[in-house]
Amino acid sequence: MTVTDSNRKINQKKLNAMLKAVQNYYPEYDISWVSGLEPWVGLRPLSADGLPYIGAFSQYPNLIAATGHAMLGISLSPITGKLICDIVSGNELDFDMRMLSPNRF
Ligand SMILES: Cc1cc2nc3c(=O)[nH]c(=O)nc-3n(C[C@H](O)[C@H](O)[C@H](O)COP(=O)(O)OP(=O)(O)OC[C@H]3O[C@@H](n4cnc5c(N)ncnc54)[C@H](O)[C@@H]3O)c2cc1C
Repeated sequence: MTVTDSNRKINQKKLNAMLKAVQNYYPEYDISWVSGLEPWVGLRPLSADGLPYIGAFSQYPNLIAATGHAMLGISLSPITGKLICDIVSGNELDFDMRMLSPNRF
């Protein structure tokens, strides 16, 4: 994917929807303080196939990756932590890790 101006445009409709969602969930929370802030936009870091990198690097086996979780890093942190624990401990994995290998490209 290439970075274009449209990736970096502030979508006012989405911004308004986010603010509205905060008000809906927390009606007693006063969000008027955001009105003076300058909104900004950024790109989410993703791997080329959208899957995380979990496992040892072939060139440096004592270097282990656990990153690239895109939009789901918080949700996936328990299983990532378990996998990393098993890898570091040398436990046998009951999961084919090739699709998550940091060496797959
Ligand atoms: C606004 C927002 C809301 C979110 N809400 C949720 C949610 O509700 N639930 C959920 O599950 N997830 C959510 N996420 C996603 C979650 O935060 C990420 O999936 C998680 O932080 C990814 O963790 P990571 O360690 O895989 O990658 P990152 O946190 O992106 O860490 C990658 C690190 O690698 C570094 N890096 C990148 N390239 C290089 C390089 N070439 N050399 C050296 N270092 C490099 C970066 O600087 C960064 O420190 C949200 C994210 C955002 C932005």
